[in-house]
Amino acid sequence: MTIRTRFAPSPTGHVHIGNIRAAIYNWLFARHEGGKFLLRVEDTDRERSTDEAIHTLLEAMEWLGLSHDEEPLYQSTRQAAHLAVAEELLSKGFAYKEDKGGTGRGDAVVFNMPGKDMSFHDEIKGDLSKASADMKDFVIVRSNGTPVFHLANVVDDVHMGITHVIRGDDHVENTYRHLALYQAIGAETPKFAHLPMITNAQGKPYSKRDGDAYVGEFREAGFLPDALFNYLALLGWSPGDDREVLSRNEMVELFTLDRVQSSAAQMDRAKLEWMNGQHMALLPLEERAIRCREVMEKRGLWRDDISEEYFLKVIELLGDRIKFFSDIADESAFFFTEDYEYEEKAARKRLRKEGALEGMRLLRDRFAELEEFTASGLEEVLRGLAEENEWNPGVLIHPVRVAVSGKAGGPGLFEMLQVIGKERVLSRMDKAVVRFSE
Ligand code: GLU
Repeated sequence: MTIRTRFAPSPTGHVHIGNIRAAIYNWLFARHEGGKFLLRVEDTDRERSTDEAIHTLLEAMEWLGLSHDEEPLYQSTRQAAHLAVAEELLSKGFAYKEDKGGTGRGDAVVFNMPGKDMSFHDEIKGDLSKASADMKDFVIVRSNGTPVFHLANVVDDVHMGITHVIRGDDHVENTYRHLALYQAIGAETPKFAHLPMITNAQGKPYSKRDGDAYVGEFREAGFLPDALFNYLALLGWSPGDDREVLSRNEMVELFTLDRVQSSAAQMDRAKLEWMNGQHMALLPLEERAIRCREVMEKRGLWRDDISEEYFLKVIELLGDRIKFFSDIADESAFFFTEDYEYEEKAARKRLRKEGALEGMRLLRDRFAELEEFTASGLEEVLRGLAEENEWNPGVLIHPVRVAVSGKAGGPGLFEMLQVIGKERVLSRMDKAVVRFSE
């Protein structure tokens, strides 16, 4: 049997991360099993399902690399098929007509629940069941003649030959009804896997109010598609060991439904940002450089006298400190201008401190004597000077860093000094001595 899964979103103009995570799991499962991953656009709400909303959906899927097999099925084109099944159910006594609310607007078609307890084995949650007394008959065609979600969803899943329905656990209650529909239609039921929701820090469903919640927002914020994909895949699934940074192929290879957790998964923005840094560092250096340069150009920070060689060295040095391409502008401006700012606290703590400038002056002269300005040479000189004076090396290291970059933290100091180069390092140290001795 070929596995067939589907993603069946109702386009609203936004693609919530919870929904797209369902798509990711369907995609991973289908790819892992060598099956098919299909797309069904549940666009029966014509007011919300505008062309633009559908475009947003397709674009989000493409950006994340969620390629689907076969042509997408647009549910709005399937109304006649849905109604034909309703007729059949009526004729076989599985449904009846009722003038709902006595409006006189015509009869709705109501599905007759079989009057028995319903149960199924969920691939993630285990055995689930619901007592007959808790399930009521439900409308499948409204009195205005339009099919209801339950009917359309099941009829289309049968039509598409779906073998595994993987969706959010807000649909568990619907599944009992859907099972009754499958039985009445005489179709084989697919397997069901209900995904726990994504929650906020308070354990409530994660929503817009908690921060970015839509795929487009993460894209705008500068996240890489591979990082968002990897992060969302791990939000509720684990490959069974401690590995977290995974390529798409690795995830395909390792993905199974029995490793999907049944409890809710909490959204963690800091973790997602970390993940972005990890995937950023996996990109080829040249590609990172091109994208960083674009950011600088956009912000008017690029200058034509920045050599390509220097730029690549900076990007390489920054490594996974560049979590977003925009970090090159926000965090690393000091590599490209002499006009950088000093962080106030860092300057107070490291430069306006008894003896700090004196040490820096001495160090500056030692640096000036160096013929080759290499990280190892610089380190040797600094440690030598500290030792001679019986200082902790930190007495020199911290002030130099703040003088040269304006910042308390950053990449390895000696490598950073080497990249910035002798002339500029010396002049920056001079400048700091003048400025902070006032
Ligand atoms: N359109 C429904 C939704 O977005 C489909 C649910 C399903 O996957 O069956 O929630």
